[in-house]
Amino acid sequence: MTLLKVEDLTIQFKSRQGVVKAVDNLSFELAKGISLGIVGESGSGKSVTSLAIMRLLQNANTEITGKIDFEGVDLLKLSPDEMRKIRGNSVSMIFQEPMTSLNPLHTCGKQIMEPILIHQKGISKQEAKKRAIELLRLVGIPSPEQRFHEYPHQMSGGMRQRIMIAIALACDTKLLIADEPTTALDVTIQAQILDLMSKLKKQRDMSIIMITHDLGVVKEMCENVVVMYTGQIVEKSPTDLVFKDPLHPYTKGLLNAIPKISSKVERLEAIPGTVPDALRMPTGCSFHPRCKYATERCKAEKPPLYKREDGREVRCFIYDAGEKGDDGNVTNEY
Ligand code: SF4
Ligand code: MG
Repeated sequence: MTLLKVEDLTIQFKSRQGVVKAVDNLSFELAKGISLGIVGESGSGKSVTSLAIMRLLQNANTEITGKIDFEGVDLLKLSPDEMRKIRGNSVSMIFQEPMTSLNPLHTCGKQIMEPILIHQKGISKQEAKKRAIELLRLVGIPSPEQRFHEYPHQMSGGMRQRIMIAIALACDTKLLIADEPTTALDVTIQAQILDLMSKLKKQRDMSIIMITHDLGVVKEMCENVVVMYTGQIVEKSPTDLVFKDPLHPYTKGLLNAIPKISSKVERLEAIPGTVPDALRMPTGCSFHPRCKYATERCKAEKPPLYKREDGREVRCFIYDAGEKGDDGNVTNEY
């Protein structure tokens, strides 16, 4: 069953320097109980997409078109009041640095109680507190009755992220959007938080959108993946296939940048070059200045998103059946 369907989402920011298309005709679907990774470097449009779903991008200089269909309702058409009933209730979000989202002046317990009291009409304070303590236990906070009374600064980074997850799950969360939730944490804590999220996803049959620059995180967590570059999807695929057989040259580059524990090579092979300036987009394929397969056609024409027979999608002329007929000569080395 489809929970979220994003259709032709385009987001433009107007500034004095010009108009920037942060997200360009993005479409994807997310089924109930499934997690989707949205991967890309900074500036790819992945965070902007998540903020649009949460309707946290409203301002006069932002133009959003397309559809964000959640349980059959277009979120972009809701009034601010109607959206407030959904945000923090059936759709919740957690961010990279919990310290910026937590209120330093309130105890963690109080901050978990807040969404419960807002969204669950008629619940008593006593019941909300009980529920908050259960949530602390659920996300693996030791001695939840005591820690309920502690302030964010009294907790470690990993514990704070657990608190954020507890707040996000305080109500009837059907979709959890996590924007780089583990990037600020060390590797062991990172693994624990990802484990916790996977466990909760299963328990609650919840869907997750995991925004990350790290395909390693996607491998741990997500059934499906969308790779973004300069506001566009360049590859859409089940995660296992991306690891077995990445299609887009950019995806191959991202895969080479994942540290391999078995390898003795210290330096990671990053993709040469940088993400282009949004105000000075290259002609043709926006990846062509960094792509070792680039041809004259790539410099002149914009590649469409090709749908393959296996259901995967890729935005690259190499997969234009009319052009080459097959893609057997592309190596997985970037
Ligand atoms: Fe590289 Fe051309 Fe494919 Fe773009 S369309 S990714 S430049 S081969
Ligand atoms: Mg970001």
